[in-house]
Amino acid sequence: MDSTFLSPKVAAPDSGFEAALQKARRGEIDLDSAVALFEGAVRKERMLRLFAEASKVRDENLGRTLALSAHIHMVTSCEVSPACKYCSLSSEIASIQDERAKLPKESLIEAVQYATTRGVQSIVLVGGTNAKGSDAEVREVVETVRSVSDVELGLDVGPSLSEETIHWLKGRNAGTVYCSIETSDPALFRRAKPGDSLEGRIRFDRMLERHGMHHGNVVMNGLGSARDLLSSILFLQSFRHLTYLYISTFRPVRGTPYAKKRPASLTTSLKALAIARFVFPKVHLGLAEVEVEDPGSAARTSSQLTAGGGNTFAGILIYRNRRVDYLDQIRREAREAGFSAE
Ligand code: SF4
Repeated sequence: MDSTFLSPKVAAPDSGFEAALQKARRGEIDLDSAVALFEGAVRKERMLRLFAEASKVRDENLGRTLALSAHIHMVTSCEVSPACKYCSLSSEIASIQDERAKLPKESLIEAVQYATTRGVQSIVLVGGTNAKGSDAEVREVVETVRSVSDVELGLDVGPSLSEETIHWLKGRNAGTVYCSIETSDPALFRRAKPGDSLEGRIRFDRMLERHGMHHGNVVMNGLGSARDLLSSILFLQSFRHLTYLYISTFRPVRGTPYAKKRPASLTTSLKALAIARFVFPKVHLGLAEVEVEDPGSAARTSSQLTAGGGNTFAGILIYRNRRVDYLDQIRREAREAGFSAE
């Protein structure tokens, strides 16, 4: 983000934007006011006002200390067929597909040891979706991690776990389960994820609710309009145990069915993030870190903090053929923005 972007000017009067901002501050945000905020913030000074108000809400509810985590991909294979059109797994290019290949056990152990040595507070184990269930495989993965570390764990393997395994995970300091909807619009979901089921994902997320499990979700900017994105964010209001929400920004991956689709706008993601802050004052919000599809995505610390994001970011991302570590950069940028990072 350049410095001119960070120099607020006096906003011109805009009763629609201001009224929506007042509503948002009172926690009364609906789709119309979310859209009014998004459209009103097309001018830089209003966008900065939106970001500043969202940051106030973040500070009041979560404070200014960041928690840093590591994401380890892929602990289970993905059985979704055909693969989602934006995912590296749908690429015709073998080396790109291989970016999301399953990690061997020794590499998983090395990854956990690396991340814990670097001082992360939690690790999210990311894998694929298997409609037939991945219970045995996931339990084995968790036992493998537990043989070397008692670090707090999250699991992100889609709707692939039974209620028994959810209960089992709780007893192993693995209290957060992600199951991303990407979009709440059935037609957009079907178009991007023809081998997957939105209904199945929502059903699974409701099951997590019943178990009082911390729940993580991701919505993707770029599958439909900005209104669709905001609508997907508002849809998640019905999940009282939503603890983590990240917004991914679509980037075309070579060899995939979406290779020629236009990349989504990062500014749109940041505006949606700021609006989400009014909807979810206490939820950990940020831009999704997906290094193989969107390189550098974990390094957007200062822009996320400016937009009201926080307070958990992934600073280490490990894939079968790639490891990136942004912890030092995140800690530095956090300090410069007046945050501390644990
Ligand atoms: S479910 Fe996830 S890992 Fe599987 S194809 Fe879709 S995006 Fe890729």
